[in-house]
Amino acid sequence: MSVTTTKPMLADRILQMQESATIKMSQLARNLSAEGHDVISLSLGEPDFDTPDHIKEAAIQALKDGYTKYTPVPGLMEIREAIKTKFKRDNNLDYNVDQIVVSNGAKQSIANLCLSLLNDGDEVIILAPYWVSYFEIVRLGGGVPVVITAGIEDDFKVSAQQVADAITDKTKLVLFSSPCNPTGSVYTHDELEAIAEVVSKHEKIHIISDEIYEYINFTGKHVSIGSFPSVKDRTITVNGFSKGFAMTGWRLGYIGAPKWIAAACSKIQGQFTSGATAFGQMAGAHALTSDMTPTHKMKEAFLERKKIVQNLLSEIPNFKVNDPKGAFYIFPDISAYFGTSDGDTKIENADDFCNYLLMNAHVAVVTGSAFGADNCFRISYAASEEQLRTAISRIKEAVSKLK
Ligand code: PMP
Ligand code: GLU
Repeated sequence: MSVTTTKPMLADRILQMQESATIKMSQLARNLSAEGHDVISLSLGEPDFDTPDHIKEAAIQALKDGYTKYTPVPGLMEIREAIKTKFKRDNNLDYNVDQIVVSNGAKQSIANLCLSLLNDGDEVIILAPYWVSYFEIVRLGGGVPVVITAGIEDDFKVSAQQVADAITDKTKLVLFSSPCNPTGSVYTHDELEAIAEVVSKHEKIHIISDEIYEYINFTGKHVSIGSFPSVKDRTITVNGFSKGFAMTGWRLGYIGAPKWIAAACSKIQGQFTSGATAFGQMAGAHALTSDMTPTHKMKEAFLERKKIVQNLLSEIPNFKVNDPKGAFYIFPDISAYFGTSDGDTKIENADDFCNYLLMNAHVAVVTGSAFGADNCFRISYAASEEQLRTAISRIKEAVSKLK
């Protein structure tokens, strides 16, 4: 019998794509747990809370009411009306229903945008540290990521001047999140206004503002860059239900965009996946227009945990930690450990550091290199207080061996 040795004939686009580091790390943690190890995973950006009951009940009711069919590709009118109202109420943004597209998660919203807007060689300015998937989605669309970065000394926020300096005649988009994944940093009103001012001088450039952590903002007021008149018609606002409503598994996200961009996203989505799940959309509409108390309570819980994590981390020598103002991440700079060893393992970079923590402390975190920040690593503190305390004491113990 002949042995077939056919080589996989994968497309260049997939061969060149990096696997999502957040998803990879959480899978590694699951594998280790399945082998019987007591692993604490602080790797995935996922609220540990369950979806509030009243939202689940709205989905159940929608199923009973027959919302079991295909929906219009950009979304049922019920959810688009709710999003329109929410944009006005929370963000002072005037997107009409024909400017709104609902997708299977904000991740798909961003992919729709990059595939709709980019031609080969178009440049996308990405503010770093950035969310892991931006880089690969931009490249999938044929775009060239132009990364501009800020370190812990700048609270991980790039300046408007850096944006201005990065603009070329190939720049098409500026892409960032605030509150930011992975740093938790929140751009202030004035910082956003300054960036808007820069972009407004270049009429071919659009902004993708990822506001998925909007409701986990400890500063009191969320500011949407699209609310500045100078870039109002050139901002695409991305948002979703995963974080603020603890609905990661529902796969529901959305954009508000200029009409021609929304139409393009709808066209591409019509060929890829069609509309998001019908009864999920009805639950999403309900979530946006009903009692927000559960969301506010989750935010308060995240704030408490942030304080605990900050305090515990500050007791670890040579961890540089800032004060994140939103999301549920903290992003210590651990470059002081590069060049150290426990006698067996040498730590050359943040990847080594995170592998060392996984193998020696059984704590899963994500390397900063996945977010464009080689000196740092990300802790997701969307976990119980007990898990956080245990995880950080294990980290402390493991790094005390590094000399
Ligand atoms: N943007 C950011 C900044 C995120 O952290 C996430 C988390 N997955 C997403 C977008 C995508 O969210 P989802 O697809 O679950 O709506
Ligand atoms: N956004 C989350 C994170 O950064 C979820 C995982 C993912 O979609 O990459 O961990």
